[in-house]
Amino acid sequence: MAKKSSEKAEKSEKTEKLINKNDIRVDGRKLNDLRPVKLEVGILANADGSAYIEQGKNKILAGVYGPKELHPKHLALPDRALLHCRYHMAPFSVQERKSPAPSRREIELSKVIRESLEPSIFTEYYPRTSIDLFIEVLQADGGTRCAGITIASLALADAGIPMRDLVSACAAGKVEGHLVLDLTDTEDKAGEADLPVAFMPNFNAITLLQMDGKLTSEEFEQAVGMAVEGCKQIYTHQKEALKAKYLVKEEAVEE
Ligand code: ADP
Repeated sequence: MAKKSSEKAEKSEKTEKLINKNDIRVDGRKLNDLRPVKLEVGILANADGSAYIEQGKNKILAGVYGPKELHPKHLALPDRALLHCRYHMAPFSVQERKSPAPSRREIELSKVIRESLEPSIFTEYYPRTSIDLFIEVLQADGGTRCAGITIASLALADAGIPMRDLVSACAAGKVEGHLVLDLTDTEDKAGEADLPVAFMPNFNAITLLQMDGKLTSEEFEQAVGMAVEGCKQIYTHQKEALKAKYLVKEEAVEE
């Protein structure tokens, strides 16, 4: 009997729809809606630059230190700054406690996040120095690499590091046969594909493109377009967050 009821529970879990017949998702969003985004710049007094994001249930903090002297010196690059990036998920950021030690996933994400931001920074202005970037995921619900890139770029700008453009990031994917924007953890796990994109809006240039799962070539093109549109919306939020910190201060100075 117990087995039967557990089988039933498993079956109802499998048949539970993530997108209803009106194309509305479990959290009430339409297919191409972002989750609610809240961004704040300059919240860590001891960092040179910092930013915080809440995107749906994600809560992530980024801090930038530098450009500063590099130790050990032999790691220094003669023609540009070394960008060092650490993406880390706190043990309490997911339902089951996560080991605080860096996992293979975190090491990989640190690398791809660094590579997605490097094209935006004038690293050549600061030879032989390092710029250290820390991304701390306090609460995770899918799409943390993209949200991490979004705030890392803001933290770099807040640190006054010269940049070609902000980098904005957002994922698209496929769930129950529909292309969707900004997947939650549940949608990511149950869905057919996840495609994180980072984008420099003023250059119309993609700096990160990954894909997990399967899409046809038409779906792939559509999903990239959808993610880029999501990045453009994120870019608007980023600019507002920078203005909220710096324009208010400038106005106060004028008075
Ligand atoms: P992203 O967060 O960029 O989408 P993944 O696709 O690797 O990266 O992870 C998707 C989600 O899976 C994360 O946002 C998080 O909610 C969850 N997750 C990742 N690692 C763990 C872990 N060790 N334990 C539990 N959940 C995790």
